[in-house]
Parts: sequence; C-alpha cells; structure tokens
Amino acid sequence: MKTHLVWLRADLRIHDNPALYAACQDPDARVLAVYIATPEQWRRHEMAPRQAAFLLDNLAALRHALAGRGIPLHYHQCPDFSDSVAWLADFCRSQGADALFYNYQYEFNERRRDRALEQALDGRVTCQGFDDGVLLPPGSVRTGDSGMYKVFTPFRNACLRKLAEADMQCVPAPARRVNPAPESRDGLAPFDYPRQAPGEEYPAGEDAALSRLRTFCHQQMQDYRKARDIPSLDATSRLSAYLALGVLSPRQCYNRLSRAYPLVLEHADSGAFTWLNELIWRDFYRHLIVSYPALCRHQPFIGWTRHVAWCRDENLLAAWQLGKTGYPIVDAAMRQMNQTGWMHNRLRMITASFLVKDLLIDWREGERYFMSRLIDGDLAANNGGWQWAASTGTDSAPYFRIFNPTTQGRRFDERGEFIRRWLPELAAVPDTYLHEPHLWPGAGEDGLDYPRPIVDHGSARQTTLAAYKAAKDRG
Ligand code: FAD
Repeated sequence: MKTHLVWLRADLRIHDNPALYAACQDPDARVLAVYIATPEQWRRHEMAPRQAAFLLDNLAALRHALAGRGIPLHYHQCPDFSDSVAWLADFCRSQGADALFYNYQYEFNERRRDRALEQALDGRVTCQGFDDGVLLPPGSVRTGDSGMYKVFTPFRNACLRKLAEADMQCVPAPARRVNPAPESRDGLAPFDYPRQAPGEEYPAGEDAALSRLRTFCHQQMQDYRKARDIPSLDATSRLSAYLALGVLSPRQCYNRLSRAYPLVLEHADSGAFTWLNELIWRDFYRHLIVSYPALCRHQPFIGWTRHVAWCRDENLLAAWQLGKTGYPIVDAAMRQMNQTGWMHNRLRMITASFLVKDLLIDWREGERYFMSRLIDGDLAANNGGWQWAASTGTDSAPYFRIFNPTTQGRRFDERGEFIRRWLPELAAVPDTYLHEPHLWPGAGEDGLDYPRPIVDHGSARQTTLAAYKAAKDRG
C-alpha cells in the first residue's frame, strides 16, 4: 500500500486544497498530513500573537476535519525554519512515504526551503507542488514581451482576460479514506510562541470562513463600492485573516462571487467587480515577490529611494505605534489595530502615509510593526501596501503625493463616528473640532487628555519632499 504525505503550510483547509486533493487521488493509498511549526522564524518575522493563536485554533479545526476523513494530522515544532527540511526528510523515511504533496508558498525563503527538501529526498520520495493561494499562478500573467507587469491596471486587465477563460473550479474536499491511517499520537501542543486570543470576530475553521464569504456576497457586496472606504461601517468582508492562513482560498472567493454575480467581469462599476479588483491586488503583490525576490528582503522596488535620509526618532515612532500622535484619525486607526489585530484598508493607507511622509520614518519600521500586530499579517500584501504608501514600490503613490491626515479624517470619517469609537477621551469635543481637537476653545484650562499634534503637517510635508528630492537627485 502506498503512503502519501501532505505537508500543510499556508493552506489550512480541506476544501479546494490541490495538494490534499492530489494526495487522495489513489483510493487505496494511506494519506497522512503534517504541519511543522517554526517559532524561531515567526519571531524573526515578528508574527502577531493574535495570528499565532488564530493559526493554532485553525489547526485544531483542520485536524478534526481531516480525522473525519481518516487522515491523521501529525504536528511537529522545529526550532527553526531550516531544521524543518531535515526533520521532514526523516519523517518521510520513518513513515515509508512514497510521495510528498504540498501547495507552493511564494516567499523567497520558503521556495528555497522546498528546493532544499527536494534535494534532501533525492528522488526517493516523489515531490509534487501545486499553485495555490492565488487566483492565477505567478508567472502566468505576462506582458507582451513575457515580463511581469509593473503597473497594476494592465496587470488587472490581463488577469480579467485570463479569468474569463480559465478553469476556476474548486477541487472538492476528499472523501473518507478506504484505508484510514492510524491516528497521530502527537498532541497539538501550543507553539513555543506568544499567543493572544483572536476574539469573537474570528471563529476558527473553514466553515466559519465560508459562511462569512456567503453572507458578505449576499448582504454586503451591493454596497461595497461606495461603503468600503468608510471605516465606521462594517462594509468589507473581513476575510483577510482567513486568506492569509489559507483557511479560505481566493478561488473559493472567485467561485462564490461569480455564482452570485455571473456578470461580474462585465460590470466595472459594481460592488462585485470592485471586490474582485481587491483580490487581484492581492495576486499582484504575490506575483511581484516571485518576479522580484528582493522584495522579500524588504528592499525598495525603486532603487533611488534607498537614499532617503530617514529620521530615527524613537519617541515619534512610539507615539505612532501607541496612537498618540494628536491626529485623531491616525490614533483611532492605530488603536483599532492594537486592540483588535485588524485595521481598515483606508486607515492602513493613512497611518502608513503618516509614518513615512509626516514623521519621515523608514517604512520598514511600519511594515514590521504592522506584522507584529495584524491578525492578517501577510508578507506580500503588507510589503506591497507599505511600499505603495512610501512611494518606494512599483505602481505606488508618487513621492510628492502626501495625504493630509486631517483632510483624510474629515473626508472618510465625516461625523467622527470611527474616531469617537476608539478615542473616548475626545467624547466631549464637538464635531466641528473633532479632527483638530487642539483648536477646541472649550477644552478648559487643563486641556484635553489627548496630545497636541506631534508634528505640524505643513512643515513636515516640506521636509519630506526635500528628503525625497535629495535622494532622487543622488539616485
Ligand atoms: P476586503 O475589502 O473585503 O478585500 C477582500 C480581500 O482582498 C482581502 O481580504 C485581502 O485579502 C485582499 N485585499 C484587499 N485590499 C488589498 C490590498 N490593498 N492589497 C492586497 N490585498 C488586498 N492585507 C493583508 O491581507 N495582510 C497585510 O499584512 C496587509 N498589510 C497592509 C499594509 C498596508 C500599509 C496597506 C495599505 C494595506 C495592507 N493590506 C494587507 C491590504 C488591505 O488593507 C487588507 O487586505 C484589507 O484591509 C483586509 O480587510 P478585508 O478582508 O475586509 O478586505
């Protein structure tokens, strides 16, 4: 009897899991799944404790779902990332594995690890990798001269053409095995890594993710185009945490979307199209890290921006991290992330722009801090978002486009509903002064228990423009 091993990584689901599906194709084979935790690597990437807890909860749900199909989930914790290769090669040997199946991870180190594993197995075990976690495989969306698109809109248009033709069917969850493998005796020991409860917003497991996807498609999609930029509304899917761990796949999102809105590709002004556009942004950043692996080492895409003379001020950085900058929309957003592990997309853009363009702090500080707090932390999307905001990335905001945090607050949180939710110390401030509370004459002699702006936006803007210009001239 053959033994097939499925190595689960960022694909914690049984539905639409190409590697699991392929491993189960031989009805007589004994199928085992394995997950390897690598806390040292997580520490280097500063994975958020909320994401670590969410990962563990989802692993427990997955283990249960696999057990119901006669597939035991073996769990192992390796001191570090590179050790997983040697451990897995040994595990294959001890289990007499004939074939190993996995879905690709597209980050540089992960791809290098997979190559090292193939070498270590030296043909004794057949390795089969599958594209996953994207709508379209990296490398399959190419310009006329076979390059990677550097600008989003033509990339998006090429994706739309491909999606119209591609077979986007999801593969089914495997049936119960004829020869179930014996249960694993490995307990799902909590990782040697700090964890923080994800909260009620994030029930674990693919049933929860699929049900949220269904509800979003049927109840919120119509309004998505108009409402998605307003942070006080619950108008976006909140599926990013599930997508980041692969509890849900983009293909499942696309399938559900095109079933509910069959003409999605033709109606560019619809909520469904706008949402698909966001999923394609997600693909864009994944395709980019494959074509430009230096992005995984946090190198800027635009070379001359490496000469920007960043300001190193621990106090300013801490004020931004804690939500104490004196700019209410920035502070409310940072507190939302610190307290819940999620931040609205518009606010990610505003807070990132503030750190880089108002405080002139290196975008990598912000990238790292976001990773350490976000429940949906994802290298490609986070790096892409930060490089966009810092004007260091491909197709990013031009460096001279600088958000005014006060105007952004007024525009996207006009009545201050979001700000009031996260900054209770501004409760007494009337709406007219809410975006500039330091100007409120009614604060009294003691003032508000809220900081004055830590920088003046007008002069900070000039300093930043000069710093970018000097870097560009050097570049
Ligand atoms: P929805 O609006 O419902 O969008 C659906 C899905 O599309 C999201 O779940 C997400 O997977 C994807 N998506 C949406 N917008 C983007 C985008 N701009 N770029 C890439 N994918 C997108 N997203 C992450 O998943 N992880 C991160 O670590 C991350 N860091 C970011 C950092 C910055 C500075 C910025 C500007 C954006 C970042 N994003 C990140 C993208 C985006 O903010 C989140 O994906 C989105 O807010 C998640 O909420 P949602 O699931 O309700 O999104």
